[in-house]
Amino acid sequence: MNPRHASAFATDWQQFDRDHVWHPYSAIGSDLPVFPIQSARGVRLTLQDGRELIDGMSSWWCAVHGYNHPILNQAIEHQLRDMAHVMFGGLTHEPASRLAASLVDLSPQPLQAVFFCDSGSVAVEVAMKMAIQYWQAHGRSQRQRFVSLRGGYHGDTFAAMSVCDPVTGMHGLFRETLVQQYFVSRPQCRFGEACADSELDEMRAMLEQYQDEIAAVILEPIVQGAGGMWFYSAQYLKQVRALCDQYGVLLIADEIATGFGRSGRLFASEHAGISPDIMCVGKALTGGYKTLAATLTTEAVAEAISGHEPGVFMHGPTFMANPMACAVANASIGLLLETDWSSQVARLQLGLRRGLEPCSQLPSVKEVRVLGAIGVVERHQPVDMKTIQPAFVNENVWVRPFGKLVYLMPPFIMDDTDLDRLTAAVYRVLAAHP
Ligand code: PMP
Repeated sequence: MNPRHASAFATDWQQFDRDHVWHPYSAIGSDLPVFPIQSARGVRLTLQDGRELIDGMSSWWCAVHGYNHPILNQAIEHQLRDMAHVMFGGLTHEPASRLAASLVDLSPQPLQAVFFCDSGSVAVEVAMKMAIQYWQAHGRSQRQRFVSLRGGYHGDTFAAMSVCDPVTGMHGLFRETLVQQYFVSRPQCRFGEACADSELDEMRAMLEQYQDEIAAVILEPIVQGAGGMWFYSAQYLKQVRALCDQYGVLLIADEIATGFGRSGRLFASEHAGISPDIMCVGKALTGGYKTLAATLTTEAVAEAISGHEPGVFMHGPTFMANPMACAVANASIGLLLETDWSSQVARLQLGLRRGLEPCSQLPSVKEVRVLGAIGVVERHQPVDMKTIQPAFVNENVWVRPFGKLVYLMPPFIMDDTDLDRLTAAVYRVLAAHP
C-alpha cells in the first residue's frame, strides 16, 4: 500500500472508505451514513459498536436462510478442501452438474440447458445474447431488439440497463451508448385481480408492428422489484406468454429477485402457470453466500444455438460455475426443499400484512402492499436517507428504503416476534418522518 494511504487507512478506515470506496449508487466523499458491520448470524446483523439489528432486507433478496448457517458454512468448508476455484473451460465438476440438475428439475418446464455466470446482470446479458443467437440460427438476424415493461429493473450492465425503466434506469445519461429498446406501460392490473384485455393492447400493438425486429419480451414475472416493488396480475403474464407464442417471439423471465420462494411460489412464473423460453436466476440461489447466477433455456433454444454457425454460445466468464458457489447453492436449495418454505413464506406474508397495515393510516403513506415475503410501504414523497437510515438503526432494525419505497423482505427463518418488532419499527420511523 502507498505509505500515505496506509497511514490514512490505519488512522481511520471508515474515513478511508468514505473517501475512496464506491458503495451501490453512491458518491465518493458522500456524507450519507454507512454503518460498519462486524458479523451476521441468523436474522441479526451486528454492527462494529455492538448494536444488533434485525435484518429486514435479506441482503437484497438473497439470505433466505439467514446468515452464518451451519449447513451452508459446512458446504463451503467442504468444497474449499477440494478446490476453491477452477476454470470451467475444458473442465467440469460435480457441484456444477448437480446444481444444473436441480435447476432443470425445479424450473418450470421445459427448461433444460443451464449457463452459469457471476451476477444477475450478467445472467440477463446472457439471456439477451441467447435470444439473439437463437434468431440468428433461424436466419432472422434482424431480430435484435427487446420489449420490456416500464417500471422494470434487470441490472446495471449496458444490455441489462437498456431494458430497465428508461426513467429510473437513467437512460438519458447513457443516451449515445444504450441500445434503444421497446417499452410498454407497466401493467395496472394488480396481483390477485383479473386483467382486462385492453391492458395487453400496447404489448399486442408493439409485437404486431415490430415483430420482425424483436428477439424477445423480457420481464420480471409478477413482482417488479427495484423498479417500483409492484405486484401485477398473473393473468397479464399469462396473456403475454400467449402473445409471445402468437407472434413467435421468445419470453425471458427475470426471476433473479423472485426465484426460490420469495413471492410465495418457488418461481413467480408459477403464479400464472407459464414457462418462459429463457429464465434468469441469481440472488437467493446461493442463500446469499456467494455471487452466482444462472440462465436457463429450453432444448429448442439450446439446440438452435448449438447447431448453427458459429455452433457455440458466445459467452464464457472466468469465474463461471465457481465450485464453492455451486456447492453452497446446492446446500441452499437442499435446505429450502427440506424446510416447509412455503408455509414460512405464507406466515411472513400474514405477519407483514398485520404489521405494516397500520402504516396505511399515516398521512405520508400512499399504500401498503404485501406479497409472499415482500412487504412494501409506498410513500407520497421520497424518504430522506440521511435521517431515515440512522432512525432505523436506532430502532435496531436494518431497513434500506429507496425513493418513495420502504420495503421489507426478511429471511424466511424470521420468527413472528422479530417480524413484529421489525414492522413496528417501520411504523414508528415512518410516523416520525412525515
Ligand atoms: N434482475 C433483477 C430482477 C434484479 O432484482 C437484479 C438485482 N437487484 C438484477 C437483475 C441484477 O442483479 P445483480 O445485481 O446481481 O447484477
